[in-house]
Amino acid sequence: MRRLLPAPERRQLLLGAMLSLSVGWLIGHPGWALAIYLLLHLIRHLRELDRLQSWLNDPASEIPESRGTWDDIFRGIYQLRRDEERSRNNLLGIIERARESVSALEEAVTLIDSQGNLEWWNPAAQTLLGIRPEDQGQPIINLIRSPGFIRYFNQAQYEEGLRLPAPRHPGRHFQFEITRFGGNDRLMIVYDITRLHNLEQMRKDFVANVSHELRTPLTVLSGYLETLSDQVEDVAPRWTRPLQQMTQQATRMNNLVNDLLLLSRLENQPDERQPQPVDVVRLLTHIRQDAEVMAQPRGQVIVLTTEPGLGLMGMESELRSAFSNLITNAVKYTQDKGQITIVWHSDATGAHLTVRDNGIGIDPVHIPRLTERFYRADAARSTATGGTGLGLAIVKHVLMQHKATLEIRSVPGKGSTFTCHFPTSAIQRIEND
Ligand code: ADP
Repeated sequence: MRRLLPAPERRQLLLGAMLSLSVGWLIGHPGWALAIYLLLHLIRHLRELDRLQSWLNDPASEIPESRGTWDDIFRGIYQLRRDEERSRNNLLGIIERARESVSALEEAVTLIDSQGNLEWWNPAAQTLLGIRPEDQGQPIINLIRSPGFIRYFNQAQYEEGLRLPAPRHPGRHFQFEITRFGGNDRLMIVYDITRLHNLEQMRKDFVANVSHELRTPLTVLSGYLETLSDQVEDVAPRWTRPLQQMTQQATRMNNLVNDLLLLSRLENQPDERQPQPVDVVRLLTHIRQDAEVMAQPRGQVIVLTTEPGLGLMGMESELRSAFSNLITNAVKYTQDKGQITIVWHSDATGAHLTVRDNGIGIDPVHIPRLTERFYRADAARSTATGGTGLGLAIVKHVLMQHKATLEIRSVPGKGSTFTCHFPTSAIQRIEND
């Protein structure tokens, strides 16, 4: 059980009570003597309590001088106050340092509350985003009014950042990254990626220009090669094989240039293009017919199953490139007499195109990198089949444009399955006469 009073205080009280009782006995009024003693004792404690209260109300005042237990209490409280002040100063120091370092950043940092209003920002936000002191508490979408930003800000997930031309600085490009924290507060960091953007643009322009410039000489070379091959009987026999090889390499280079041009077109196209209804069933039927030209001489069977009327909202020529790359790959990487199955169907999760083959398959180590440009699981085989290593990069780009994903499953020696998953929102029913 807890004691009511500390030991010295108790001893003093007992001693005082006994002493006052003894004195009271001597004068014949022990009860009165004890009562007076207790009253004096109470008055002393009330006075000390009074001093404690005034000291607590005025923390700047001197620590009161006292004796015994009260002195311990005053000193104890004084110590607690000093410790608290020290840790408060420490914390304030840390907050100040964090604030200073965020202020020194070149990136704009802003804190946005759960209502979407601007709470705090660093000096870089002032320069990059033009935020002024009077903007505190304003909705951030009133301050950055670009439709792309408003769409990005209002979405529930911020897994990927947003790249935009800088709203107030012509010629500059920003990347916006938002992270949620606490309840629904948001931390937004804005990077100036102008240099990176310009470098990327230079790379894209370079590839596009080189591919374009290569086209004309290549057309001339291929034209002459074709003419020579048509008149093979006029050519000396020792030139037959070199001629064949030159034709093969010219075709390869032509494929490469075409794929590079297509890729750079895909990269440079603005996102605002309007999707059109695409009759995917008709598209697949045509691609299958084209693939048959390669498959039939090798005894391969192509089975196409489609869901009638299932179409997409999208860009037809891009979808044609993506689907024919997958189907051509299936034919290329499947041995003679193999089977290629194409299924186009929909379910509750969206529309799916599956291209399955029972060909050579792919080692699992290669699968995550297959959609990189020029990545080939087996370079020798790819070259032999006229591959450019760009086909799956094109597929990935086209699918990204259509908010679709690519799933690759494969067992070496057994075959591969490439599936394109389109969201339900992309489905378009096509009326056929
Ligand atoms: P390529 O022009 O070399 O075919 P792609 O980008 O279309 O380039 O494909 C990349 C690599 O993925 C190919 O080199 C090949 O190794 C592998 N690959 C693609 N499709 C298949 C398939 N159906 N079966 C086996 N391997 C495949």
